[in-house]
Amino acid sequence: MHELSLAVEVVHLLETHAHELRRITRLTLDIGTLSCVDEQALRTALETAMAGTLAEGADIEIQTVEALARCQDCDQTFHPPDRIEPCPHCGSFKKTWLKGEDFKLRSVEGIPA
Ligand SMILES: [Zn+2]
Repeated sequence: MHELSLAVEVVHLLETHAHELRRITRLTLDIGTLSCVDEQALRTALETAMAGTLAEGADIEIQTVEALARCQDCDQTFHPPDRIEPCPHCGSFKKTWLKGEDFKLRSVEGIPA
């Protein structure tokens, strides 16, 4: 399961804060709309993966990052709803993704060690 491996990865990142934080109370994740992450499944997987760690019971905030692409033919940027959407300006399918594939831990808050 995709979300479970992501959750395990997040917990590894959280554990790197163990020397500065006694407990993690809140974490914020940036998730791009193209990353194919199911938010609810991710929350459930995180709650499971964080149990017994310094982040047990922490609030999970998920920020959705809207996809942004630049057309390789006309150089305009646009917000495609999915990966296959052509450029609305010229119809080209050649695009460079600028945003939307993100999956990152944006911030962590907690009680200092
Ligand atoms: Zn275009």
